[in-house]
Amino acid sequence: MAVYAAPGQPDSLVTFKSRYEHYIGGEWVPPVKGRYFENPSPVTGKAFCEIARGTAEDIEAALDAAHAAAPAWNASSPAERAVILNRIADRMEQHLEMLAVAETWDNGKAVRETLNADLPLAIDHFRYFAGAIRAQEGGISQISEDLVAYHYHEPLGVVGQIIPWNFPILMATWKLAPALAAGNCVVIKPAEQTPASILVLFELIGDLLPPGVVNIVNGFGAEAGKPLASNKRIRKIAFTGETTTGRLIMQYASENIIPVTLELGGKSPNLFFDDVMAQDDAYWDKAQEGFAMFALNQGEVCTCPSRALIQESIAGDFLDAVVERTERIKRGNPLDTDTMVGAQASNDQFEKIKSYLDIGRQEGAQVLTGGGVEDLGGEFSEGYYIQPTIFRGDNSMRIFQEEIFGPVVSATTFTDFDDAIRIANDTLYGLGAGVWSRNGNTAYRAGRAIQAGRVWVNNYHAYPAHAAFGGYKSSGIGRENHLMMLDHYQQTKNLLVSY
Ligand code: NAD
Repeated sequence: MAVYAAPGQPDSLVTFKSRYEHYIGGEWVPPVKGRYFENPSPVTGKAFCEIARGTAEDIEAALDAAHAAAPAWNASSPAERAVILNRIADRMEQHLEMLAVAETWDNGKAVRETLNADLPLAIDHFRYFAGAIRAQEGGISQISEDLVAYHYHEPLGVVGQIIPWNFPILMATWKLAPALAAGNCVVIKPAEQTPASILVLFELIGDLLPPGVVNIVNGFGAEAGKPLASNKRIRKIAFTGETTTGRLIMQYASENIIPVTLELGGKSPNLFFDDVMAQDDAYWDKAQEGFAMFALNQGEVCTCPSRALIQESIAGDFLDAVVERTERIKRGNPLDTDTMVGAQASNDQFEKIKSYLDIGRQEGAQVLTGGGVEDLGGEFSEGYYIQPTIFRGDNSMRIFQEEIFGPVVSATTFTDFDDAIRIANDTLYGLGAGVWSRNGNTAYRAGRAIQAGRVWVNNYHAYPAHAAFGGYKSSGIGRENHLMMLDHYQQTKNLLVSY
C-alpha cells in the first residue's frame, strides 16, 4: 500500500501550473479573448488551476499551425514517425507515476487504475502504432498483361479530435497514436472537465514532435468543440462522448463531407448463465469479479457492464454473492493504491448519478446495496463520491435503458438462452457486452448473437491495442485500435498503370 502526496503538498510528484494556456505550434499560447475557467479536482471538489477558454479564433490559430506543419509531417517516412512515437512512449514510461497522479487528480479515478491500466495502455498504443505503420504495405496487382494497379496509403492531412473526460490521457492516445503514425497533423480539444493531465503530458512530450504537429485548444463544447468539428480545414473529425453530441458532430461533418469516427454511449449487458456458480472455484471467483467491473473507473466507462442479466434459476444465490463482493470494493482516497473506486469526474456527473439513484427507486427497483453518496469526510467531504450500487428491476426501466455513467448496475433475470439474447439486445446501444458460461458452445453462440462491437467472453474490460473497438447501433460509427484504425486516418490512392 502507498498513498501518493496530493498535488500542492511538498513531496507531490506533480506540480500543476496555476494557469494553463493552449498548446499551439509548439508554444503555450494565451486565448485570443483572454478568458480562463477554473478546473476543480474531483478528489476535493476544489479548483487547482485555471484553463484557457478557447473560441473559434483559437481554433483557427491552431489550424494555421497544423497546416504549416502538415507538408513536412505528411511527407515524413513511416520509419521517422515510428521513432518519434516510440520516444513518446519511452518518455511517458519514465514518468509513469507522475502522469498517473496527474490523471487521478484531474479526473478523480483511483491511482491503481491510472498506474496499472490507463498509462501502460496509453504507452502501448504509441508502441503498437509505431510498429503497425512500419509493417503497412501498399498493394500491387497485375490486372492484365499491360495493366497494373498500385495502391498507396496517404495521410488525410489535418484532423480534429474531441476527447471525453472519463479516460483523458488514454482516449487522447487512442486517437493521437494512429493519426500521427499515419502522418496527420492534429488539433485536439480535451474535455473541459479534465484538461489538465493532457496538458501535463504535452509539457513532458511536446519537444519530441515537430512544432504544429499536435495542437491543443482547451475549452467548452459549444465554444471550442463546435468550431473545430465544423471547420472546413479539417479532413476528419474523431469524437468520443455522448450520443446526442455525436449526432451534432455528424451534422457538422456532413456539411464538409468529411469522415467521422464516433465512440458514443453504451448500456452494456453482462450475461451470467446458470453454470457459472460453484463453491471455492477460480472460474466462479473470476465471474464475480466480472460482475463487479461495473464499478471500475467509478462506472465512467462507455462499456461499463451496467446491465447484469442472470439466469433465473441461480439469481438468488448469485445476487447474494455479488452483493457481498461489491461491499468489499475498497472506496476512499483516490491517491491510495489500495482504493478501487475513487471520485466521479465532475460535480455535474455526481448530480446526474444521484438523480438516477432517485429515478431507480421511483421506478420501483430494489436497492440491493449502495444507493447513496459515499461520505469520506475530512478533506474529501466536498469530493464527488458515490457508493457502488446494485439495483434489481426490469429491463424496461430507465435505469436499464439510459446511460448513468456511474458505479451503478441494474440487474434482472432471464429464463433461457433466447430470452437472454432478447433482453441483451433490447437497447438503443451496442458497444460492449460480457458473456459468462463454462459451456464453450453457449458462450460462443451468445457472443455472436449479441449486437455489440466488443463482446468479452469469460472476462471483462481488457483493452489491448490489437483488438478492434467500436459500436453497433447508437453507440457509434467506425472502430478504434487494431491495424484497421490506420485506414481511418489515411486515404487510399490507386494508380492504374498501363505498360
Ligand atoms: P459530451 O458528449 O457533451 O462531451 C464530450 C466532448 O465533446 C467534450 O470534449 C465536449 O467539450 C465536447 N462537445 C460537447 N458539445 C460539443 C459540440 N456541440 N461540438 C463539439 N464538441 C462538443 O459529454 P458530457 O456532457 O461531457 O457527458 C455527458 C454524458 O455523456 C455522460 O454523463 C455520459 O453518459 C456520456 N459520456 C460518454 C462517454 C463515452 O465514452 N461513451 C464519454 C463521456 C461522456
